Amino acid sequence: MISVTNLKKVYRQADREVRALDGVTLSVPANHVHAVIGQSGAGKSTLVRCLAMLDRPTAGTVTIGGVNLTAVHSTALRRSRRRLGVVFQHANLFDSRTVAANVSYPLELARTPRAERLARAAELLSLVGLADRQDAYPAQLSGGQRQRVGVARALANRADILLMDEPFGALDPIVRTELQCELKEIQRALGTTILFVTHDVDEAFTLGDQVAVLSTGGHIEQVGTPTELLSSPASPFVAEFVG
Ligand code: ADP
Ligand code: MG
Repeated sequence: MISVTNLKKVYRQADREVRALDGVTLSVPANHVHAVIGQSGAGKSTLVRCLAMLDRPTAGTVTIGGVNLTAVHSTALRRSRRRLGVVFQHANLFDSRTVAANVSYPLELARTPRAERLARAAELLSLVGLADRQDAYPAQLSGGQRQRVGVARALANRADILLMDEPFGALDPIVRTELQCELKEIQRALGTTILFVTHDVDEAFTLGDQVAVLSTGGHIEQVGTPTELLSSPASPFVAEFVG
């Protein structure tokens, strides 16, 4: 379960302040997919980074599995973070490592024994349909395959929460639809809780049990099921955004 209360992020630059998140409150029950849609610059990536504590929120709380990440210090934060897998728009794989070595990288950091790492990588790669590409290098993979590796790596530590920042944004529409279906299957099989950020309304409606609409300045306009957003948009902004 992810719970975010009144989250604010202000970036201070030399001559100005950028308000990237303006009091975001949302809650994602365990085993649910929550999509966040917003245009470019709305604050989507900032939200993901603040949830993962890769960026420090200016105010507000992020609670994951009952632990308020904004209040705990290094050891407890590391422990909670292990439950979180993050997938970005570009998979950010290590080019010099094989697919299997990319997936098992987080396990190396956690000092998992080699045999266990290899077994886990094999298991995850078969989950994402890449059982036969374990020894390939990222440069030998398609964009869709690279993102599958990114998902497998995010799950390596048995993360039960995935934060996904436009992970399929750079893929062509057919591959994108394929990966959306696969993600749903994986989510159902593992019971993963997902916060999925995208600028694509169709993608948000396909994946999200709940969808939050974020307007420029990091302001939540409305949260609801796809049906609710379509049938009773809370503002002209939402109506226009969801079409
Ligand atoms: P999105 O992912 O929805 O496109 P971002 O979260 O990347 O939006 O950015 C939200 C706003 O915060 C934008 O105005 C962006 O320019 C600003 N911003 C993001 N990161 C930084 C940063 N490190 N320093 C200053 N401004 C930033
Ligand atoms: Mg972004």
